[in-house]
Amino acid sequence: MTQSVLLTELAGSLEFGQPERCGVITAAGELLEIENIHTDPVKGFHMDPLSFLKAIEDGATATWHTHPAADPNLSEDDRQGFAQWPELTHHIVGIRDGEPTVHSFAFVNDILVTV
Ligand SMILES: [Zn+2]
Repeated sequence: MTQSVLLTELAGSLEFGQPERCGVITAAGELLEIENIHTDPVKGFHMDPLSFLKAIEDGATATWHTHPAADPNLSEDDRQGFAQWPELTHHIVGIRDGEPTVHSFAFVNDILVTV
């Protein structure tokens, strides 16, 4: 399955009020979930740093996180977090108009753009 199919399936499984989930896409193109250690995981995400850095070392190409049953719009925290890893693509998984929706972002010449 492609990444976008995997992410869309994840979006369809989300329920309002759940903690945000997060992880990476591995070099093999698989979704790897990483523990969300945010102090208020319903409101945001912070990946367990050791697991995240290990995944990066292993060649992860992208991050993903969920906005459970919410619009996959970029939050200011998301923007700042993505800026720390400009070489990666960043996917936000949520629901828009009742449909599973994935928004993907990347940096092009230091500007964050939708991809
Ligand atoms: Zn977010």
